[in-house]
Parts: sequence; C-alpha cells; structure tokens
Amino acid sequence: MDLPTLAIAALGGTVSMQARNAGGGVIPTISGETLLASVPELSSLARVKIETLGLLPSASLDFEFLLSVLSWANFQIKQGAAGVVILQGTDTLEETATFFDYLWDHPEPLILTGAMRSAAQPGADGPANLLDACRVAMADRSRGRGVQVVMNGQIHSANAVRKSDSLALQAFNSAIVGPAGLMVEDTVRYLRPPCPRKTLPLPLQTSQRIALLEASLSADNLLLENIIAMGYDGLVIAGFGAGHVSGGWADAIEAVAEKIPVVIATRTGSGSTARSSYGFIGSEMDLLGRGALMAGFLCPRKARILLWLLVGCQRQDELALFLAHD
Ligand code: GLU
Repeated sequence: MDLPTLAIAALGGTVSMQARNAGGGVIPTISGETLLASVPELSSLARVKIETLGLLPSASLDFEFLLSVLSWANFQIKQGAAGVVILQGTDTLEETATFFDYLWDHPEPLILTGAMRSAAQPGADGPANLLDACRVAMADRSRGRGVQVVMNGQIHSANAVRKSDSLALQAFNSAIVGPAGLMVEDTVRYLRPPCPRKTLPLPLQTSQRIALLEASLSADNLLLENIIAMGYDGLVIAGFGAGHVSGGWADAIEAVAEKIPVVIATRTGSGSTARSSYGFIGSEMDLLGRGALMAGFLCPRKARILLWLLVGCQRQDELALFLAHD
C-alpha cells in the first residue's frame, strides 16, 4: 500500500526531556528519531521523515528560529508531505501555534504537540500525543483548517487555544468555543466546520519590538511613558475585564497611540473585549476614542504575535481588519 508521507520536526520541550543524573531536573536531550521509536504504530500509517531542528525549552524559542522551522515545513509540503507535525515545549505552544497559523497558507495541516510529562515519567503523554498529532495531520478532514494543537486527545484551533494549567495533564483549553475536535477510538472527529482564515506574507524585517504590558491595580506609568523612547514599534495591553485600564494609564496610552499601534486585550483569559458598553475614563470606549484598538477574542499574547507580524510585513494599517476577523 502507498502510505502518505508525514514530516515531523522536533524542537525540544518536556516531550524530549529526561534527567542527566538523579536529583537533577529534566532537560531536553532526546532526539526526534528516539521519540519516533516510542510510537511503532506509526510505521504502518505513514512514511515518516523526522528531523531534530532544536533541543530547546519552549521559553527560549524565538521568532527568527520559528521562521526557519516554517521554511523547513514549507519545503516538506513542496516535497509532497501530506501534513507536518511539530513537537515542542508546551509553555509557549499557544503562541507558536498563532505565529505559524498566520503564515501557513497550505491546505495541508500543520499540527503542534508536546507533552506535560517528561519522557521517563510514569504515564508519559508524549508518545500518545505524537501518535494523535500524526493521525490528525494525515486526516483528509483536517485539510484547510490551518494550524492546530493536539494535546490529551483534543484538537484545538490556533486562534483559541491556551495553556490554562501549569502542570496538569489536561493543560490546554479553548475558552468559549471548546476544542475543534477530539480523538475518538483513534479517529479524528471534528465538532465544527473549519473557520475562514486570514494569512500574512513572511515578514520583510524581524527587528520590530512589540511590548506587552498587563494592567494591574495601582500600577505606575513609568514603563508606559518610556515605551516610545525605548524604541518599541507597537504595544499590547492585557487590560482589566472587557479591556479597561486606570485613568492614569489611559492618558499615557493616548500619547503612545499617537505614535505606534496600541491593542487592548483582556487579561481575564476568556471572552471578548467590549466596544460600546462602558464610558468611564480608561474604559474601552474611552480608549477607542484615544486611538487604541480592541483585541476582541484574541488573547494578549496572540495579539502581540499578530502585531509583530503585521509590522514586520509593513501592513500595520490592516490591524483593525485582522482584529475584527479574529
Ligand atoms: N511544561 C513545558 C513543556 O511541556 C516545559 C518546557 C517547555 O515548555 O519547553 O514542554
């Protein structure tokens, strides 16, 4: 039987971690090739090409590296891969998923997965997640859905998924919308049709800086007042509630928004920012009047990725369109 080709990249993360010596913490050491040996079932499902592109904790991934991973993934599709799977740490999975999703313009699926338990831990979830991710990447019904995260038997869309628990096995969720699909008896089952997506071209530059500040009670203005002088090209605020800040921050934001794009998201972890509910100083209506934009359902970290990519391809004028779309 002619098996489909599947390309897998290993970047590091808990899935690749084990301790070098007793009492030492786990660190990324296990190659993709070794991880592949933990899922022998795969050889009857696909012709697998696996490469270890990095052995990094996911906090140390950066945009330049992700662009090189993307170019590797694009090449795999050109070479005929039916789908691509990326294995990485879970700490920044929600951000890398968004990054790739805005840049992935193939119908073939790009699937991200990892593990919450390291390779030698009892009940390690890496092999099951890898096998599920491969099944999702090869499923015809995954085509046209862009980038998805597969963890613990659930499939999450890149624009909604977030890590919402630090150590639990069930660490990922998609607030409000829920998972896009599930693994049921080794089959991929989607719970809703694919959503229309908007993608971007590759950035022309990578030196742009986008700051992310979280509103907190009685916070001072020092960082906000120096954002422009520090050379930032955009600002995202994780605001209170439906996209709110203090009166002091509202004044500082107005001055920043005259110079660079400012996006206000919610720090709550669920739900949309408002547009026309509150009128107090520092409310969403006040901030919109001062030149800021509201992130809608996009969480602060994903809004920062969008702004970085838009500034990078000099299309920041389309920020409002992209935010309305998400
Ligand atoms: N819990 C994280 C993981 O699942 C820690 C390490 C990382 O993000 O690389 O991989």
